[in-house]
Amino acid sequence: MEADISPLKVCVVPFGCQMNRADASAIQELLERRGHVPVRDEDEADAVIYVTCTVRQHAEDRAFSRLGRHARRKRDGRRVILVLAGCCAEKEARGALERLPELDIVCGTRRFHLLPELLDRVRAQGGPIVAVGLDGRPGHEGGFHWRTSPFQAFVTVMRGCDNFCSYCIVPYVRGREYSRPPDEILDEVKRLADDGVKEITFLGQNVNSYGKGLEPPCDLAELLARAGEVEGIERLKFVTSHPKDLTPELADALALPKVCPYLHLPAQSGSNRILAAMNRGYTRERYLELVEMVRERAPGAALASDFIVGFPGETEEDYLRTRELVERVRFSQVFVFKYSPRRGTAAARLPDDVPAEVKKRRNNDLLALHLEIAAEDNAKLVGSTVEVLVEGPSRRDPSRLAGRAPTERIVIVDGPPELKGEIVRVRVESATALALYGRPEEEG
Ligand code: SF4
Repeated sequence: MEADISPLKVCVVPFGCQMNRADASAIQELLERRGHVPVRDEDEADAVIYVTCTVRQHAEDRAFSRLGRHARRKRDGRRVILVLAGCCAEKEARGALERLPELDIVCGTRRFHLLPELLDRVRAQGGPIVAVGLDGRPGHEGGFHWRTSPFQAFVTVMRGCDNFCSYCIVPYVRGREYSRPPDEILDEVKRLADDGVKEITFLGQNVNSYGKGLEPPCDLAELLARAGEVEGIERLKFVTSHPKDLTPELADALALPKVCPYLHLPAQSGSNRILAAMNRGYTRERYLELVEMVRERAPGAALASDFIVGFPGETEEDYLRTRELVERVRFSQVFVFKYSPRRGTAAARLPDDVPAEVKKRRNNDLLALHLEIAAEDNAKLVGSTVEVLVEGPSRRDPSRLAGRAPTERIVIVDGPPELKGEIVRVRVESATALALYGRPEEEG
């Protein structure tokens, strides 16, 4: 019997973080290169590929529940190839088939470059196929990027994490850190710039440890400097950084002309006792030293942070230390998460002893505090001029435009729609905790 090589209609559905979206975009490109046709409607597809997230139980359950709907249709006679890819696939491996026997392929985080071939095998011989394992590296000459607009892209520069923060599943599903060679990344940056991209965000689970093991050596600061020389690139950003790997060189890079002065440096807690239990590898004092270093070397840089409230054993006093840290650093953005245990992590063995209502109160209190600070700090920017990359109509008020300042602050601009994709100087006329408002300087 001859193998079926007719094109499939494929629907790649990403869940979770930007890295998953970049992976989903690479998967789609790989499949298109093989002749398959991307479709948006899952119900129309011959193959549905979920690129999943497992950082929180909720994300995992959502993916399985949505796949469950396809499984039911399959039991009713619909012919469709079902693929579970990404973090859930890596974590569950064969277990995913027990949960959903209708799956045809379970493809882990370091195997997705094999998907075109795995689809061929399933069509020729049937499934299921389980392809997982944290050895090896996915390769794809088209690169690993996700275009969010014609002028913006996210590019994965490193993968994996060696940190083993006690609450986090990532090292178990993404494996050890490895960095892509700088020349490969810079080629991708050049291709994107030639295609109209002005702003690139470098992605990595632990992006500021980029370069570990590279020969000849290259760190993130150097990669940013080299990418800044690519013609057409106007803005460079990077997420997410770990405090223990923040170097003076990277703080200096935040002051380079093309590098946005914005650093997402998750503190997670302001209590040394909790930081130790989280296995974060730094103290509150060290974190504050790093903040000072950044503010000295890149004056005006905005700092953002993540916090987890309600980690096992977090007392009111521990929480107040976190609150004080937020008051002291005056972050431009704060992302707060209520702790929930992830099976397989060290923290999941600790009693989840902070009551849900206490987690909720701390979560809301920290956000309210941050909003108060952000309102005060944004108000100080009224009367100043900021450069804004205009992204398109504002979601809240489509008659206005929305974009971002280099500090990642949202700016609502009164201006003509043709400004979309342009970097414009905007005079700030008013501000709230969440956004700045203004109009292009030349019109003011
Ligand atoms: S640094 Fe910690 S929180 Fe971040 S991905 Fe690694 S283990 Fe998870």
